[in-house]
Amino acid sequence: MVKKFSLLFLGALLASLLILQPLSAKEQLTEQFFQGALIVGKTAPENKVMLNGKAIKVSSTGDYALGFSRDEKNNSELVITKPDGSQEKQLLKPLKREYNIQKVTGISKKIMNPNKKANIRAGEDNKKISAARKVDSDLTAFAQGFIAPIEGTITGVYGSQRYYNGVPKRPHYGLDYAGKKGDPVKAPADGTILMYVPDMFYSGGTMIIDHGHGVSSTFLHLSDSYVKVGDKVTKGQLVAAVGSSGRATGPHLDWRINWFNMRLDPALVLKLKPLK
Ligand SMILES: [Zn+2]
Repeated sequence: MVKKFSLLFLGALLASLLILQPLSAKEQLTEQFFQGALIVGKTAPENKVMLNGKAIKVSSTGDYALGFSRDEKNNSELVITKPDGSQEKQLLKPLKREYNIQKVTGISKKIMNPNKKANIRAGEDNKKISAARKVDSDLTAFAQGFIAPIEGTITGVYGSQRYYNGVPKRPHYGLDYAGKKGDPVKAPADGTILMYVPDMFYSGGTMIIDHGHGVSSTFLHLSDSYVKVGDKVTKGQLVAAVGSSGRATGPHLDWRINWFNMRLDPALVLKLKPLK
């Protein structure tokens, strides 16, 4: 009985050691498993990658993307399967972050208490945004590093709990940059324009750029767009102009990064170093 128990225990211990082992040197992963982080990996292109039991796309150059949400508390299990069936596993532990509190005042009644018509409009806007964020293209721009879309002071950060006129609202998911109306907004990485709508209810002029594998940039409150849906853009290319359309207290750029519908932190994305 004792022997049987200790064997079982040993088995469990071995299994947990196996899973906690970091990936072999051939497998690369960007090393910042913070809540809200985009994580980029590189493997042999013929390998299969599963995250928590779900397959994720591997590019012809072996690149793949995954993310941790703002409040992720659970470990993720990454499994890489080679063509011969052998596997490597790693547990990715999200690193907890503290988010700040931001108070926003002077929001108009119309925006604070949207009427039925406004709610319908916002619902239609959301459908367009979700459809764009479902795109899982073969682009690998997400693996090549990002630049800031605008030169400006950062006035709002990812994750902050927001109070509008004293009422608690959803956390803020963008990186806000101060700017003047008309200031140039550049593509933070190569990509394809997935969506541009000049007048969404909350976000005003709204553009979404696909960077591949479900990773996208969204720009809010724009006053103009210089590209069309379907256009290919390169990192640093002028794509839009800063504005204050929608729910904005003044002209600024709000830049968001998503991995599909998961909202990630653009500030962490800017720190990503491309894997060799
Ligand atoms: Zn914002």
